[in-house]
Amino acid sequence: MFKFVDRMQNLEVLHPLNGERVDQLLLRHRIPSASVIVLKDGEPVSELHEIKQDSEYIAALIEGYDIKNIRSVYEKLANNLSASISPYVKKRLSFNKNGSLDAESVSLLLPDLSELVERTVVETCQEFDLIREGDGLLLGLSGGVDSSSLLLALSAARSYLPKFRLVAVTFEDFDSQTSPAFQHASELAKSLGIEHHIASASLAEEIFHLNTPLREVLPALMDTPFAHHAMYIDHHTTRRTLEVFAEKEGLNRVALGLHTTDLIGGVLNGWMTGYDIADIPLRQIGRLTYIYPLAFVHKRELHLYHLHQTGKLARHTTPNAWEKNPKDRNFYYYLADILQSYWPGLEIMLFTANNLRFRGKHQLSYKQCSNCGASILPQPLAEMTTDLCDACVILTQSGFIN
Ligand SMILES: [Zn+2]
Repeated sequence: MFKFVDRMQNLEVLHPLNGERVDQLLLRHRIPSASVIVLKDGEPVSELHEIKQDSEYIAALIEGYDIKNIRSVYEKLANNLSASISPYVKKRLSFNKNGSLDAESVSLLLPDLSELVERTVVETCQEFDLIREGDGLLLGLSGGVDSSSLLLALSAARSYLPKFRLVAVTFEDFDSQTSPAFQHASELAKSLGIEHHIASASLAEEIFHLNTPLREVLPALMDTPFAHHAMYIDHHTTRRTLEVFAEKEGLNRVALGLHTTDLIGGVLNGWMTGYDIADIPLRQIGRLTYIYPLAFVHKRELHLYHLHQTGKLARHTTPNAWEKNPKDRNFYYYLADILQSYWPGLEIMLFTANNLRFRGKHQLSYKQCSNCGASILPQPLAEMTTDLCDACVILTQSGFIN
């Protein structure tokens, strides 16, 4: 018998599965292992203990919080009759003004979900003034599910937004010639009647003053001590090339397909390192304004939206060697997903708080990299000892910039 006793001495019998460990049983009942002392026949056991059916267990809550109320909120979220036959359930856990917890869950069929995604994009654009009359917007279109869905949703949102020029730009990436995503990008833009350009790798080589083709630089970096930075350099060179392309085309805004998990992962990273993270979903960087219209759209919603709009689930390309690293970044993404399962809708408070955090402190001011021209956000904790951005420092030290 396994009993759980809270601070009010309420007693509940939990039923372990065969061979189940203490932490697994507690997790199934939304009880954190860290909140209980577990006794087996009067002796303490750890959460990794495998439960024996013929022993007596008591897990006593040592925390002061009202776990009964919190568990009931999760029950409410899960207790949705039509959920088991729906492809998606939109959940939200929020706080009321009096500090009580509120839970909502709505089952959605694919057409409803698509409508929700498009409405969320429109509302995000309106609420945060992401697009203004006469703007020129460069949409970074890799052809993957995120940027493709962004293009689909923005294209659908146009009639609700001020008039703006929309230009999709695909960076001629390391593997673009063979990548199905690349092909998908041009087909999609064409089918939507949206202007589409390729930003060439040679433009990146020009901007970064590289002495080696970019497609050789990234794999070569994998054999250096900078291997775990290769992914950041890949992203940085892509982003910077898109920026220069935007300026050449007279476009003043850049939209990227970062979704809720991407942005929560970034905020967690900033939180844990003490680094400043600029505003979400709109940030002014140098002369350009970056916008993230998918900030409040979840990854799964994007995939299902893509399925509904195109009839296809996203193609998954195998990650490049450098895309599997660094592991700390992977871990932030993983945590971002876990957090969303425990606190669906947390991004609403989290992003607002992130934006507010800096308001009273200091204005974010950027410096410019003397090699690639990218904007650098100097961090209060890390003094800048060079006028190069991190990517250009590594490219110089690895001999790819003369
Ligand atoms: Zn640079």
